[in-house]
Amino acid sequence: MPELKVYRHLPPRTLLIWRIVQALFWLIGVVILSCLLFFPALGIMLFWNILIPVAPALLVVSTGLWRNVCPLATTNLLPRRFGLSKKKKLTPKQSGVFSLIAIVALYVIVPLRHAVFNTNGPATAVLIITMVLAGGILGFFYEWKSAWCSGLCPIHPVEKLYGGNILTSLPNAHCSECANCMVPCPDSTPNIRPEASKKNLWFRMSGFLTTGGLPGFIWGWFHVPDNRFTGSLHELFMTYEIPFFALLVSLTIYGLLLANTEQKYEPKLSGFFAAAGVSCYYSYRIPALFGFGNLGADGLLIDLKGKFPEWGINLIIVATTTFFFYWLLVRTRNKNSWLIRPAFVKKTATVRNKLPV
Ligand code: SF4
Repeated sequence: MPELKVYRHLPPRTLLIWRIVQALFWLIGVVILSCLLFFPALGIMLFWNILIPVAPALLVVSTGLWRNVCPLATTNLLPRRFGLSKKKKLTPKQSGVFSLIAIVALYVIVPLRHAVFNTNGPATAVLIITMVLAGGILGFFYEWKSAWCSGLCPIHPVEKLYGGNILTSLPNAHCSECANCMVPCPDSTPNIRPEASKKNLWFRMSGFLTTGGLPGFIWGWFHVPDNRFTGSLHELFMTYEIPFFALLVSLTIYGLLLANTEQKYEPKLSGFFAAAGVSCYYSYRIPALFGFGNLGADGLLIDLKGKFPEWGINLIIVATTTFFFYWLLVRTRNKNSWLIRPAFVKKTATVRNKLPV
């Protein structure tokens, strides 16, 4: 069994530093949201062409850092932080259903980037506000991260796929005490992966859809151009057609491999699909950001065509692919969890009782 790292309480100075960093990221989030609403071109550049392209690499190296500073998490955990939450716990079935809804939501929402969000700042802002409201409302009812951050958030399945072998465990800057609201807790379980919970069919379907489907889905997504949706059903079908077809192919390959893989090699298979997904993402996203994309100006940040050699871009793609396969597949799994579990509620109460007043 991997060693369970448990903190009693974060030292006040460490906690203060995390609160400052969280506040900074929260402010950055507010600025981006305001830009999306009032300066859409700038907002789209900041959100879709800077923040989102950085996110997958950050998740691979330090999922816990993102879990600690995500502005959405900081917002929707406020009810819990201020003692306004009913602190309910989800049943395993509810958790499993939430986890399945999260990956289905990801597959439904992401293709809509081509039809709407990539070119429409206010629509992207509405999407973010909807997520903030959904997470915030759930925060009034459910304990810590169980319902949103580790449940319905559509980014969470990606965190679990890419965050299987992170650099190091960071302190948990949100949960002040662990109420054991999620079992297994994705933040506190070493080398978590989408298939970590096999408790019920919902979790198993969610894990299968995430690991098996994401690489194909990503490949397919990069073969659909941005087009402003005019309301035609045919356009909508075209938006989903290639990503869903590639998702099915990827799922089939994964299913066949999984059926013929010994249980002890399943983490390696998961690592392979994670590396394939994130490598595929950067193989298309890096050229698109710098003007070498396969779909013209879609997803362009700075046009370097003619100023930077194309072989340089290809070299970067080889380097990122090599890095991700080394990091997620070849490197020994280091038994790090994203975050260090805070002391359990009960144990903390005992410790407190013993402290001099
Ligand atoms: S650390 Fe504990 S309280 Fe926080 S999300 Fe995980 S299980 Fe819940």
